[in-house]
Amino acid sequence: MTPYANVKIKDGQVYSSKYDDIYYSRDNGPAESEFVFLTGNDLPARWQERSGFCITEAGFGTGLNFLVTIKAWLDDPTRSKTLDYFAIEAYPLSIDQLTEVHTHWPEFKTHSATLLEQYPNVTRGCHTLVFADGRVQLHLIFEKLETALNTYNFDPDSWFLDGFAPSKNPSMWRKEVLLKIAAHSCPGTSLATFTAAGQVRRDLTEAGFEVSKCKGFGRKREMLRAIKSGPKAAQNLIKHEPWFALQSFAVQPRKIAVIGAGIAGAQIAWHLAQRGVSVLVIDALEEVARGASGNQAGILAPKLTSSASREEAFYLAAFLYQLRQLDAMKQKGHDIPFTQHGLLQLAHDPATQRHFEQLAMRDDLPRNLLEIVSPDYASEHLGEPIEQSCLLINLAGSLAPGNLCKTLLAHPNIELRLSTSLEKVSRCKQGSTLKLSSGESLSVDALVLANGYQLAQFSDSIKTTPVRGQTSSAQLTDNKPLGHMLKHDGYLLSTPRNGSAKHNKRRLIFGASYQRGDVKVDLRSAETQQNLDSLTANLPNLASHLTNIKPSHAGVRASTPDRWPIVGPLANSDFYQKEYADLHQGKQYKKYPAARYQEGVFALSGLGSRGLTSAAYCANLLAHMILGSAPPAPINTVHALHPARFIIRNLRKGKNKFG
Ligand code: FAD
Repeated sequence: MTPYANVKIKDGQVYSSKYDDIYYSRDNGPAESEFVFLTGNDLPARWQERSGFCITEAGFGTGLNFLVTIKAWLDDPTRSKTLDYFAIEAYPLSIDQLTEVHTHWPEFKTHSATLLEQYPNVTRGCHTLVFADGRVQLHLIFEKLETALNTYNFDPDSWFLDGFAPSKNPSMWRKEVLLKIAAHSCPGTSLATFTAAGQVRRDLTEAGFEVSKCKGFGRKREMLRAIKSGPKAAQNLIKHEPWFALQSFAVQPRKIAVIGAGIAGAQIAWHLAQRGVSVLVIDALEEVARGASGNQAGILAPKLTSSASREEAFYLAAFLYQLRQLDAMKQKGHDIPFTQHGLLQLAHDPATQRHFEQLAMRDDLPRNLLEIVSPDYASEHLGEPIEQSCLLINLAGSLAPGNLCKTLLAHPNIELRLSTSLEKVSRCKQGSTLKLSSGESLSVDALVLANGYQLAQFSDSIKTTPVRGQTSSAQLTDNKPLGHMLKHDGYLLSTPRNGSAKHNKRRLIFGASYQRGDVKVDLRSAETQQNLDSLTANLPNLASHLTNIKPSHAGVRASTPDRWPIVGPLANSDFYQKEYADLHQGKQYKKYPAARYQEGVFALSGLGSRGLTSAAYCANLLAHMILGSAPPAPINTVHALHPARFIIRNLRKGKNKFG
């Protein structure tokens, strides 16, 4: 957990005990924010008529600068199509503190309410909150400024350097930090700050900004404005890995095709549509979500590792993002069957038991996420003797993916074409030409392959392994739904509640079988028996009370060798083979050229056994990459997801064939 800010709040004024400083002007906080950061960055003028605009704020504090900005942005009819607002905060206020402060600003009531509804538990990392139907995204990064500058790629159009005064918080204003801010800035990037401290001015100038002093707000004599003049430093500041460098289109793509109407295709189409792009979704099958995403219900849960890891951070961020999306859709009146009844995990072997013990000792996970429950609790809940403590992931839930896909694809910017396969992709002057099974040829600016395990059909550099799985369905003899979802070496859950269904018959779903290399989707009684055997071995009493047992759904997962999804632009294999051929010789200081891609072709696949949890988050990252803005995730996560990682690994091993 990130530490909360140590503050005192009195009459709408917020005072930091740690820094012995106030958060904003005693005279008029909103007016000061508008004057210093909007006017200081020549906003709204600079965001007008742009496709996207990005702001990075150092110090989120009470959220005042964000509230002032979103209001000004929405009030401006000539605003950019989208606004990305990154805010870095090491000591966030609690939701109760924010709520109290925001009552003093009735002019921001609507946006404050949306912010407070989504405000995350202060877990480290980046939390994306969505406003104005997805046109505005607030990426809250709960980290120290310097850590964030080392971990993320920021490419803002404007910087808001807030935070406490240099005399009170000198570490934020150190020259090294300002140099990093400069390295994250392109020529023309603007910056504004309330301070006019001479050292800050000199260090910004040395870092490549043209700095000017101007009149400060109210009683403050001066403040600083600056424009980055010199060239941008190495794009990737943490590790210079040019083979993963992202590129943007010279002109934003207008017509994008997405192949696949499963959870991956539906999520990327929706995320692009929310950002104002027209999307055509094509699927070979006759209905939406008929592939792997055709399960009646699946588990939405994070993956937790015994100690903090990159993988855990990714799945936790993805899980929380997916929960927020479902919440927002519910608020808009969409009836998506999703029930958050918690996932009870049994310690079915000694390794799992050890894992739970290690989780119990951690204090860096959100407090409301999980708890270790006693054998008595589990025994009572399950109606059979359980001897070990269990893990209960409170926030986990069961989701009907088909309904979610249909809702996402009903977006007015999305056109859907079913019973149509993509057969061939070729380059054309401004994008790709798609040859479809209907005989039609279609030209698009960009293409997203969200076609599950069949991705390899269109890319020679990616290997996914197909893994068939089948779930079974049943009812309990007393016809009751389960309290929690259950996980042993398989899983058992009740289908989620559907508010609009007249007869809400909730069945149990259990499974799932795991057959590598098998791409057939017939329903098999042998696999139903296998699912039942696994349940009987772990929960014999519960299994003996099942009735009406049937095969439910079979689909094919797309698994990757490293178990990470595939998200990003597809590599130009010839270029990679030629330019990075000597990577295995470990030439540390050699300068390699930036990556080249199959222009305008992207992938969102390899979601494995956790696609319901990860698809939305991956889609948001990919939408940012396609539209040329910085994906809101740590750079090492973006690299872990990058489609070219397989080629690079092989080249590092001295192999030039893709494995
Ligand atoms: P799919 O849903 O398979 O969609 C791909 C689509 O692409 C298909 O509709 C296909 O027709 C289309 N397509 C392919 N090629 C072409 C082409 N050339 N032209 C046109 N269309 C094409 N995940 C969880 O998070 N929780 C769970 O509890 C869970 N349980 C699971 C149980 C089973 C039995 C299975 C199989 C998977 C389970 N998963 C679970 C994993 C999850 O379902 C997948 O990760 C996810 O559905 C993958 O979605 P997708 O959109 O990538 O693939």
